[in-house]
Amino acid sequence: MKIAIASGKGGTGKTFVSTNLFWVAQYAGKNCVLVDCDAEAPNVGEFLKGEKQSQEDVTQLIPVINQDACVFCGKCYEYCNYNAIFYLPERKMIQLTEELCHSCGACVVACKHGAITEKVKKTGTITKFQYAPNATILETRTEIGTASSVPIIKKGIKAIEPNQLALLDAPPGISCPFIATVESVDFVLLVTEPTPFGLNDLKLSVETLQKMQIPHAVVINRSGLGNQESYNWLKEQGIEILLEIPFDKEIAKIYSEGKMLSEVNETYRNQFLLLLEKIISVRKEPLS
Ligand code: SF4
Ligand code: SF4
Repeated sequence: MKIAIASGKGGTGKTFVSTNLFWVAQYAGKNCVLVDCDAEAPNVGEFLKGEKQSQEDVTQLIPVINQDACVFCGKCYEYCNYNAIFYLPERKMIQLTEELCHSCGACVVACKHGAITEKVKKTGTITKFQYAPNATILETRTEIGTASSVPIIKKGIKAIEPNQLALLDAPPGISCPFIATVESVDFVLLVTEPTPFGLNDLKLSVETLQKMQIPHAVVINRSGLGNQESYNWLKEQGIEILLEIPFDKEIAKIYSEGKMLSEVNETYRNQFLLLLEKIISVRKEPLS
């Protein structure tokens, strides 16, 4: 089973929830993996220290234009859907903007003059850490200057073994990296805080997941903060709240020290265990 832990915006406690869920999963003896899919800013490693096992590069093919062989026919420019080719025929100028290139290969096919070849460019890494005998962490990380983290996220998800319970710490927002993370999961746990900003982003996430027809439910973090609007809206929508984590100075202190709440506090350990069991049971009875 694959479970994504997501939030419409950063700073809601998504990584706090995903690391604690992972911690209780390994504590309960499950064969599990936590994939840090927030490839532009992975931070699971700040809370869970594992032993590095391997690292794999993620690469993409980037076109290289040979100005000497180019006859400035403009075909590659026409074929490129991503505006990655800058073309000024009257000045005999053609140039690639690597950051915009999606490595689709269309320009290579288009050029009938042998003026375009391809080079390999490193765009990111997938690093595997062993956290416990039954638990691994996969960290996806983009290289600085890489336009899209999507291929790196996809490669990280592909590295999940078939018999593992997979928890995916999703990138914030609802853009392509989020879609790439949730498109193959069985369930999405949305972490939100009960504030007007939190509700606004929650609505966008829910709308996206409804369109994708992915079962989802909510964890309210920092409950007691803000107002009742989020609760009322979730009730209207028939979306279940699986856990509420109070706005508590002690929890914030534990988190800021990089400790696992589930490890140091038995009450929360049991609550996260229960949360995990509830999500796993969704397979039989979808929540929404
Ligand atoms: S590989 Fe695709 S995206 Fe990149 S420059 Fe060529 S046509 Fe454009
Ligand atoms: S298709 Fe080839 S020859 Fe034509 S402009 Fe592009 S690089 Fe030059």
